[in-house]
Amino acid sequence: MDKAKIYELFFRFQQANPNPTTELNYRTPFELLIAVILSAQTTDKGVNKATARLFPVANTPMAIIKLGEEGLKEYIKTINLFNNKAKNILQTCRLLLEQHGGEIPNHRAALESLPGVGRKTANVILNTVFKEPIIAVDTHIFRVSNRLGLASGKTPWQVEEGLNQAIPDKFKYHAHHWILLHGRYTCTARNPRCQECLIHDFCDYYREHSK
Ligand code: SF4
Repeated sequence: MDKAKIYELFFRFQQANPNPTTELNYRTPFELLIAVILSAQTTDKGVNKATARLFPVANTPMAIIKLGEEGLKEYIKTINLFNNKAKNILQTCRLLLEQHGGEIPNHRAALESLPGVGRKTANVILNTVFKEPIIAVDTHIFRVSNRLGLASGKTPWQVEEGLNQAIPDKFKYHAHHWILLHGRYTCTARNPRCQECLIHDFCDYYREHSK
């Protein structure tokens, strides 16, 4: 996709949704961190259902440690991989208290040293909590970027680098959520909704597949 089309694509995303954000429910950076850890291989809806019960009871590192592993599992047992996630969350809570005064660190190395926090989760926190123009590449962003020729790559890291080079700076802060929401609701994995897509007039994928 050439530069002019990329600019037009994000201009249209911006016009349609000037302030996109995560669909995970949270009120504090800690709640968002826990929600993002829980969201791996799970829908945001499923996470929101679990955290709607968990957060009123425990929404700080200390409160979750007090719940204990079995207590925490009771709240998250509807979520994929909940056994591992419970272990990771408890260890993350311990490290947050021991090394960061119970706060969420605002730099990548410290975030990625927390159990259950990989590059994607760290990027979501840096972008959504600390307002950095960083793009977290999840399954939707990986698919859409490759499909549109926005950024091609075989790994999320390659796509992230490609997006960083391709997206104009003025759109980078919101780019993560625009592409994610586009992939979740319009440019879906199967049967993308091209007829209602706001960029179908210059989408090469659509042109090639609608012949
Ligand atoms: S036209 Fe279709 S394939 Fe192209 S971006 Fe829109 S939904 Fe995706």
